[in-house]
Amino acid sequence: MKTNTVIIGGGITGLSAAYHLKNKDFLLLEKENSVGGICGSVKTNNGFTYDYTGHLLHIKNKYAETFIKKLLKNNLVLKTRNSWIYSNGVFTRYPFQVNMFGLPEKIIMECIEGLIKAKLQMTRLVSDESERANHSPRFAGEAGKLRTTNFYDFCLRTFGEGISKYFMLPYNEKLWRTDLNKLTTDWMGNYIPRPSLQEAITGAFTDNKRKIGYNASFYYPKNGGIQALIDAIKKHIPDTKIKTNIEILSINTGTRIIKTNAGDIQYNKLISTIPLPELIKLIKNPPVEIAREANALKWTSVLNINIGINRKNLSDRHWIYFPEKGFIFYRAGFYNNFSKTLCPKGTSSLYIEVSYLPGSKTVKNRKILQKILSNLKTAKILKSTDKIVSECTLDIPYAYVIYDKKRNTALKTIQKYLTKHSIISIGRYGGWKYSTMEDAILDGREAVKWIK
Ligand SMILES: Cc1cc2nc3c(=O)[nH]c(=O)nc-3n(C[C@H](O)[C@H](O)[C@H](O)COP(=O)(O)OP(=O)(O)OC[C@H]3O[C@@H](n4cnc5c(N)ncnc54)[C@H](O)[C@@H]3O)c2cc1C
Repeated sequence: MKTNTVIIGGGITGLSAAYHLKNKDFLLLEKENSVGGICGSVKTNNGFTYDYTGHLLHIKNKYAETFIKKLLKNNLVLKTRNSWIYSNGVFTRYPFQVNMFGLPEKIIMECIEGLIKAKLQMTRLVSDESERANHSPRFAGEAGKLRTTNFYDFCLRTFGEGISKYFMLPYNEKLWRTDLNKLTTDWMGNYIPRPSLQEAITGAFTDNKRKIGYNASFYYPKNGGIQALIDAIKKHIPDTKIKTNIEILSINTGTRIIKTNAGDIQYNKLISTIPLPELIKLIKNPPVEIAREANALKWTSVLNINIGINRKNLSDRHWIYFPEKGFIFYRAGFYNNFSKTLCPKGTSSLYIEVSYLPGSKTVKNRKILQKILSNLKTAKILKSTDKIVSECTLDIPYAYVIYDKKRNTALKTIQKYLTKHSIISIGRYGGWKYSTMEDAILDGREAVKWIK
């Protein structure tokens, strides 16, 4: 078989590329029996719909907004975030650094004192730096001491000891499962709000309802879970161009032939949306340097435990962060607060997120559910009389790309090699980055501009 463009992977990135290729000559290959990737939803026989944890549409880009609205039409609702943090036996609003109200007084004082010290230290560094630049213009703009090279230092320098100790460090250690000294700050973008001292103090002594941060509001489908977006994109792509249940055996970058369980495909351009390390494994005889750089890429996996409970209105919150070590999960959320249609009447449904390092088996054992239930009771989310009426565990082997010091160079080297061989690797795992569904839609659209 021969086609101009092959898209590997039918997640939202691959589908966006296919959508934007319109009637051009292409084929999309997906290994599973349906498309969607981790933007898919799973429906149970007894009426629960589970996403791969919370998948909410935070939109910044005008094109992405129009695209989503055009596809989902009136099957879309805009929600104002209602997210919280559970720490020291109390719930406080998210983000922690501007919402310490409700925590024990001693902790609030520790956090504010730490923040003041951090701000003073920063002011001192800025003035030292500008003095140095004045004396020796060679240093101007280098921001020597001011430059934070790792996430651990960034936290202490930006938020001080208290906020770092009670939220930033334990939460991120739990999520990334990586020494935070080895994590760069390249992934942060605007994900972590940096408040002024005044904002932090206001939120420490009053119940501050101001919505701060990138995800203060979000869109979500009224019906069908996040899969509704996938289904809506798929409607615009001819069925004949999507091949599911395809196992790729190898990619020959010289002959441009993909060997699959359904025969060989000759291509001209290749858009890959599968995890970058997996793509390199499929390439026949990649240069040693490329294989070595691919080996340097690191990531964390997430086990997503979904449960249905025989009680309605379990909570009015959207999701809750759990920074403390005693809680096995880093976040838990309530699907039924995104859309009532996600669970049967009289019930509620939750997602729980536990991160793990690839290859560690311990997290997947059965005991984990008992620990989760016990943790949910400690936080008074579940009562001892509540019964589980549905359970569905979903594994996300590639969940968060680890931005360590090797990531940028490895990515650059691999991408350069791929482009030279007419392969473009995009999306959260193809582009090896921390990105959203909106970014995936835009990546698919951009990739198409590269196809002549
Ligand atoms: C825990 C978690 C929560 C998230 N929450 C949000 C959120 O709230 N909002 C948001 O905007 N984003 C969120 N994201 C990010 C979002 O899920 C991703 O940006 C997006 O789903 C990436 O889509 P993709 O198509 O690039 O990758 P994927 O969804 O991984 O798709 C890749 C596809 O390739 C297929 N594939 C893999 N290997 C092969 C192969 N060898 N051959 C053929 N096919 C193959 C897979 O089956 C899959 O269908 C979250 C991510 C995680 C992990």
